Amino acid sequence: MSGHHGPTRRRTARYSAFSVARRGFGGREWPRAWRRHDLAPRYDVVIVGAGVHGLAAAYYLAANHGITDVAVLDKGYVGGGGSGRNTAIVRSNYLTPEGVRFYDRSVKLYERLAVELNYNVMFSQRGHLTLAHNDASLRTMAWRAEVNTLQGVASSVIGPRDVKKLAPALDVSPGARYPILGALYHPPGGIIRHDAVNWGYARGADALGVQIHQDAEVLGIDVDHGRVRGVRTSRGDVSTPVVLNATAGWSSLVSALAGVKLPIVTHPLQAAVTEPVKVFLRTVVVSGSLHVYVSQTDRGELVFGASVDPYPSYSTRGSLEFVEEVAAHVLELMPGVGRLRLLRQWAGLCDMTPDYSPIMGFTPVDGFLVDVGWGTYGFKAGPVSGEQMAELVATGKTPELISAFSLSRFDAGTLVGEKGAASVGH
Ligand SMILES: Cc1cc2nc3c(=O)[nH]c(=O)nc-3n(C[C@H](O)[C@H](O)[C@H](O)COP(=O)(O)OP(=O)(O)OC[C@H]3O[C@@H](n4cnc5c(N)ncnc54)[C@H](O)[C@@H]3O)c2cc1C
Repeated sequence: MSGHHGPTRRRTARYSAFSVARRGFGGREWPRAWRRHDLAPRYDVVIVGAGVHGLAAAYYLAANHGITDVAVLDKGYVGGGGSGRNTAIVRSNYLTPEGVRFYDRSVKLYERLAVELNYNVMFSQRGHLTLAHNDASLRTMAWRAEVNTLQGVASSVIGPRDVKKLAPALDVSPGARYPILGALYHPPGGIIRHDAVNWGYARGADALGVQIHQDAEVLGIDVDHGRVRGVRTSRGDVSTPVVLNATAGWSSLVSALAGVKLPIVTHPLQAAVTEPVKVFLRTVVVSGSLHVYVSQTDRGELVFGASVDPYPSYSTRGSLEFVEEVAAHVLELMPGVGRLRLLRQWAGLCDMTPDYSPIMGFTPVDGFLVDVGWGTYGFKAGPVSGEQMAELVATGKTPELISAFSLSRFDAGTLVGEKGAASVGH
């Protein structure tokens, strides 16, 4: 691949305590984290969507393969989709060996991301608890623990007493409305600062010569004789041999522009956050049966989430039903937080697939690639997806780690069923 307008690398300002002090005392402004550009008439690769997936793919194309003639186009702003609206849970305790291996690679990449990008992404591996309120959940957890252990991922089933030690605020008494019979404990799981991840990848990609275009909506995709030729955007036409669709909740609309139908339905997903209080909850706590999860940020806010709204929609309005239901279930689990006030709620869009696994790789249109189907759980997969999709673009071959997630699995009937580990746990 050849870049006709040449990559324009630049030295980024290093972020460190020393440079904060130097710039502070010297009164010097920080340079923009990523630059503005005019849209060029041609790129080697066009990525649609500036969420964590699009940005990570751009970064690894440049960093790992030297492919820098890349444009990332977004109709809104960097991280304006799910990547800036999620509850930032990172874990790898999935149900299928394919899923566990894949998400584990992402955890490993996240562990060194702050150093690699020179950006504090605040990855806090504080442990992740999935509660069991009935025998069926305990059985699924034992199954998950076995699969996880076989893949080298730390994960085990623990009893109510150990649950209480890890999360003293939980009511583990037998008299609770939904008694806690045990939990799947996953020590490497935790939370991260989602904006920092998005901005860190954007800055890293920009430094290597990638162009990030905000406010550039893809309105059409030109396909000729089964091959991608370019995209039409709100800021002009661009020719390119490779288009990567990384638009999550909008991905079936964008794929339809290339004539590719995806087995994806978009649902809203809501979350909410309370006022900050002294930190008392170290681990992430999830209850699949109650469709609720809670974590506490380092600032002290409790972050609440649930499963998707029960109807397909592209609306990002919050609803009263969501807050009422989440509050009721959180109180059943942790009666002590009854006087906390909610600060705000919000919603994002989730691209749900029939098997709760992503769709990654080639489509029937040559040069039109997808990295979609991220549902309620795709933020944690940003690094590994970016790394693997970059390799696929650079080599023209599907890497082993993502071969199970091809679009063709829906024709072949080889689904990767992750519902038991993905529907609420995120
Ligand atoms: C409330 C909530 C909580 C969540 N919690 C978690 C969690 O705890 N852990 C986890 O791993 N995941 C979680 N998720 C899921 C996660 O946020 C997403 O799966 C992930 O962010 C998807 O990233 P992405 O880069 O693929 O897409 P997005 O971040 O959604 O980015 C897609 C981008 O495409 C752009 N776009 C769309 N159409 C066009 C077009 N025609 N032209 C140009 N640009 C376009 C959009 O503007 C958007 O910026 C949660 C999601 C929500 C909503």
